[in-house]
Amino acid sequence: RQAHYATMRDTQPVSRDGKRVAVMINAGLRDDLPMLNLTGADGIGLFRTEFQFLVSATLPARERQTRLYRDVLDMAGDRPVVFRTVDIGGDKTLPYLRHDDDHLEENPAMGWRALRVALERDGLLKVQARALIEAAGGRTLNVMFPMVTEPWEFDAAKAVFESQVAFLKKQKKLLPEAIRYGAMVEVPAIAEWLDVLAPKLSFLSIGTNDLTQFLFAADRGHPKLAERYDWVSPAILRFLHRVVTAVAPFGTDITVCGEMGGRRLEALALLGLGITRLSITPASVGPIKELVSKVDLGEIRAAMDGWVKNPPPNMRAALTEWAAYHCI
Ligand code: PEP
Ligand code: MG
Repeated sequence: RQAHYATMRDTQPVSRDGKRVAVMINAGLRDDLPMLNLTGADGIGLFRTEFQFLVSATLPARERQTRLYRDVLDMAGDRPVVFRTVDIGGDKTLPYLRHDDDHLEENPAMGWRALRVALERDGLLKVQARALIEAAGGRTLNVMFPMVTEPWEFDAAKAVFESQVAFLKKQKKLLPEAIRYGAMVEVPAIAEWLDVLAPKLSFLSIGTNDLTQFLFAADRGHPKLAERYDWVSPAILRFLHRVVTAVAPFGTDITVCGEMGGRRLEALALLGLGITRLSITPASVGPIKELVSKVDLGEIRAAMDGWVKNPPPNMRAALTEWAAYHCI
């Protein structure tokens, strides 16, 4: 099996009809970095910066943040890395980052987390922005904001970065060649704002872990609910179809960075929706590259168009049957 993945490592994910699909990895710590070369992935589509904060006893100093981000970029070389600003709070609490009051959150996933914390404790975001900008001096910086719920939150977070750019410019520091800003689509409300948001962005990344928990109102970690709703059910696929359609006129890159993209049938459904950039757990890179090589994207897109309009009674069964006949 390992030999099999080693073979896939040097195989580019190209579909039967010759389309190149981007298969990237999700990462968060230095230990994850060797996975980039082991899997032969196209880059890091989601670098969860909060992991450094979670494994640290105190708030990581700016220099430590800069060092980590620089190591990640050095390791990735020409391959792109998307740094997500801290998604802490909620269930990822830090003992050294105290809430303003001792309100115990009943629904932490929907609570004071991610950008909501970062925009209020903007010292946190300023330090992180400066660390990222300095680490990416002379290179491209891809930065993405989690849990964007309304467009102003994206604007406010971007403004924090821009003021750090202005500050570092005055200091005559080496700046990034380019900064590409992106937002995660993981709070359903933002999907109603894509005509406003998409023109401001370089890319969007759909976080299907949180998106599905909010769409189904079902805790993503709840064992009883894990199997209750299907990632390939029409509610999700139609939702994603609307996102892709809304963004298409702006030509904004769309990646899926949730766990959904690492499962074969789910990935097949995403390809059918026209999503050709996946960022997944490293162990899934081999199997997903293999899947891509067996699919004709034109065929699955045609099938998915039909299913989105007229959902079959059992979407998983329909996809499974389709795969049995069409994925050679
Ligand atoms: C997601 O919500 O799908 C996602 C990729 O982010 P996280 O799993 O870190 O919440
Ligand atoms: Mg998320």
